Amino acid sequence: MASPQRRGSRRYPDRSPMGLQPGERSDGPACTPVQRVLLALTIPLESLQMVKARMMLAMNKGLNRQTHAQATVKMLPTYICSTPNGTENGNVLVVELRQSHVRTLLMTLMGDGNYSPELSDHTFDMPEDLMQGTGEALFDFIAQCVRQFLGDECHSKNHLPLGFVFPFSCRQTRLDKAELISWSKGFSCSDVEGKDVVQLLQSAINKQELSQVEVVALMNDTVGTMMTCSTRETPCEVALIVDKGTNSCFMADVQYVQTVEETSGRMCVNTEWGCFGDDGALDDILTPYDQHVDEESSNPGVKRFEKLVGSLYLGDVVRHALIALAAEKALFIGSNVTVLGTKGVLTTQQVLEIISSEEGMTKARTTLEALGLRPSERDCCRVQQVCRAVLSRAAALCAAGLAAILSLIRQSRGLERLMINVAVDGELYQPQGRFKEILHTVTGLLAPECLINFKLSEDGTGRGAAMVTAVALRLTDQRREVNQLLAPLRLTRADLERVQALMRQEMDLGLGQETNASASVRMLPTYVRGTPDGTEQGEFLALDLGGTNFRVLVVRVAEKSIQIASQIYVIPTNIMQGTGEALFDHIVDCIMDFQMRQDLKGQVLPLGFTFSFPCKQLGLDKAVLLNWTKGFSASDCVGKDVVQLLQEAAQRKQYLALKVVAVVNDTVGTMMSCGYDDPKCEIGLIVGTGTNACYMEEMQNVGTVEGEQGRMCINMEWGAFGDNGCLDHLFTEFDQMVDEKTINPGKQRFEKLISGMYLGEIVRHILLALVEKSILFQDKTCPTLQNRDIFKTKFLSTIEIDGLALTKVQAILWDLGLQANFEECSLVREVCQTVSLRAAQLCAAGLAAVVEKMRENRGLGQLAVTVGVDGTLYKMHPCFSQHLQQTLQDLAPNCVVTFLPSEDGSGKGAALVAAVAVRGAES
Ligand code: ADP
Ligand code: MG
Repeated sequence: MASPQRRGSRRYPDRSPMGLQPGERSDGPACTPVQRVLLALTIPLESLQMVKARMMLAMNKGLNRQTHAQATVKMLPTYICSTPNGTENGNVLVVELRQSHVRTLLMTLMGDGNYSPELSDHTFDMPEDLMQGTGEALFDFIAQCVRQFLGDECHSKNHLPLGFVFPFSCRQTRLDKAELISWSKGFSCSDVEGKDVVQLLQSAINKQELSQVEVVALMNDTVGTMMTCSTRETPCEVALIVDKGTNSCFMADVQYVQTVEETSGRMCVNTEWGCFGDDGALDDILTPYDQHVDEESSNPGVKRFEKLVGSLYLGDVVRHALIALAAEKALFIGSNVTVLGTKGVLTTQQVLEIISSEEGMTKARTTLEALGLRPSERDCCRVQQVCRAVLSRAAALCAAGLAAILSLIRQSRGLERLMINVAVDGELYQPQGRFKEILHTVTGLLAPECLINFKLSEDGTGRGAAMVTAVALRLTDQRREVNQLLAPLRLTRADLERVQALMRQEMDLGLGQETNASASVRMLPTYVRGTPDGTEQGEFLALDLGGTNFRVLVVRVAEKSIQIASQIYVIPTNIMQGTGEALFDHIVDCIMDFQMRQDLKGQVLPLGFTFSFPCKQLGLDKAVLLNWTKGFSASDCVGKDVVQLLQEAAQRKQYLALKVVAVVNDTVGTMMSCGYDDPKCEIGLIVGTGTNACYMEEMQNVGTVEGEQGRMCINMEWGAFGDNGCLDHLFTEFDQMVDEKTINPGKQRFEKLISGMYLGEIVRHILLALVEKSILFQDKTCPTLQNRDIFKTKFLSTIEIDGLALTKVQAILWDLGLQANFEECSLVREVCQTVSLRAAQLCAAGLAAVVEKMRENRGLGQLAVTVGVDGTLYKMHPCFSQHLQQTLQDLAPNCVVTFLPSEDGSGKGAALVAAVAVRGAES
């Protein structure tokens, strides 16, 4: 016999020496045959770490789209995306196909959180020839079992969902759609492989005239094990089966399961880890006894991990070790050991009994004697040691696999520590047994960052399958309700085309001299007649009032470069809301201070004034304030020319260096600043606190200004689009609620669907509706969510980051006092996505009207144009800009639109407007 050698020093687990008796030396030249065998069957902790690492690699390979096909550990998606939460209710039926029988089960859930309600079940023996007969006969038999089980009930018309436990390898594409890949376990029915077994069962059931029975879920046995141990408070997210074979499943973050389309939430993955090692990954721990067991099996070369762990094999591993020892005369001297050559003469059940400490020795003796052997006391002791070693190894390997799962979960959720419940089922996992003890200890050693709570599963395939079915039903109902709620926010292409057409109509009305007053889009002339051409030069002052900060800037425009220096000044609330005189005095003070600091004292620099409040402009340097917004309410300003107000203040301060040449809206500033870098930039767009746009219109179309030549930039004030009721069909109940609570109800209706000030609020109202319907934050009061503006628009940006772990979403919600589980996080993300997508699409519909009008104006088949954009929502949201561009391309296919984010649009832009104006005046 080849002596199995193993290097390595530390053994596991330290508290329970494996097979080795105290005092027995484990290595060195004086090693006895028994010691060598025990050593070969003992895997040092370092090697177990390696097994764990390889298992993780194999699992990642199974999850990866590219490598999945070659992976040994298949990591099959189960399409089960939730664990029970206690609200499941109704009758569920389960059918389980097993080796020699069919089991049916009926369970009634009351939605009261009781996970162990009454159930009735029945087991039907299956005629042996069915396993090799036609598929039709097999499924007909199963359906007949259902019919018989239901008895009188089968005439009821009440819908009865059925869960089908089908423990064969399937390519599942939905919870209720699974193609059989190949039969195993002695089955080989014709015409089933490659077919959807759910459909086959449903057809057979229909043939029995049981139309109320609907097959809603197909599942593997591991999933049920996980489900039976799950409650709302303590969801169980991993299951382990250690029975004849071994397998496991766990709730994976779905973005790591690349083999499915779903991108958010979690899904139970059936690892099929029994095949781990089929590519040689376990070769260095296999012993000659394992090789013999494999050769004798019906499937040599495959399921290598299972053959080290499953109870179907442990007895035979022990048997081969004993054969080797007998051959070395270390056992059964004087006995005829030929009986040990027969597969299966030593069962795993016997191995378990021999290990037990009380009657183990007696059991060893009677078992060996029953085989016709004549064991000495020492033989019995050694056999017991071998049995222990084989079982301990199985438990340790299982622990390595489990540790791999736990590490994957911990990593993918970005957690430092993971607290998790693990369900275990199978004959090896006995309450006081050695397998259990070693599994727990070694998993703890291999996954020290995890706090594991092991739970013994009962009747995973029956009760668990019923739970899976009930959960599936709950999810279907919930999905229907969520879809109903969100449907009004999901716009079709036709909806968007209509918005585009309406915007176009309002634009035309706004431009017309007679119709202007009735338009919701004001279309204000800006007196900006040209975009920069790159020849602008000089030094300019700029003011920026009405954005997030008040700033004074000096902008030096030279050939090919612009330099800016600026200073932020505070406008105290008492000045914002005091007299107009005090406000403009303060502004002049700030300008004077700035000039001094910048060594510009005494210089007369042309000044561009970005004044982001609605104004009726009468000239480039003449702008009558229509109304204050954003917290300003200084008296005696509305109806006056703001340039005049500024100049009067300068006079009061004896400040003679002020020369205002232009008043600029922030959209115009944005267009101009981008226009300096890209001459095609003829549109400005803002999506920040509010939203607005401007663009270059033909003078001949601008009915509100004299003159037919050239173009003029029009400040659309499109935020007010819809204020005349033309968008009423789009507003949802949530939009109405948001609008009612604003300082300007009924106004800026388009803006309130799109911009940063409102998106968070819309989301908050939808979440409240979901809470109301008990779909979210069930059983929990969420007083925080009642607070206005608690849900910031910046949360949408974070929550929607592609691939952001749900635990991060959870953290955001927890900061708000919302204790969300992962499904709830997933749902919150969906709400955010729906709201921000609608915003981007509506913005695109508005822009589509603009670019199409420009294209028509110019009589072009194709228009290439650039949009200068500013605003934190546009710049920071992870998908807004992409959705905006995609939708625009779709709605205006004849326009090639480039988006250019602006840098300091209000500062640089104002200076450029001034520069263009100065150039115009000089030329
Ligand atoms: P303004 O429009 O007043 O000039 P901004 O363009 O900076 O100012 O926009 C500010 C608005 O942007 C805030 O009201 C807020 O709603 C929104 N916002 C802030 N941070 C983010 C973010 N990370 N993602 C999306 N929106 C944001
Ligand atoms: Mg701004």
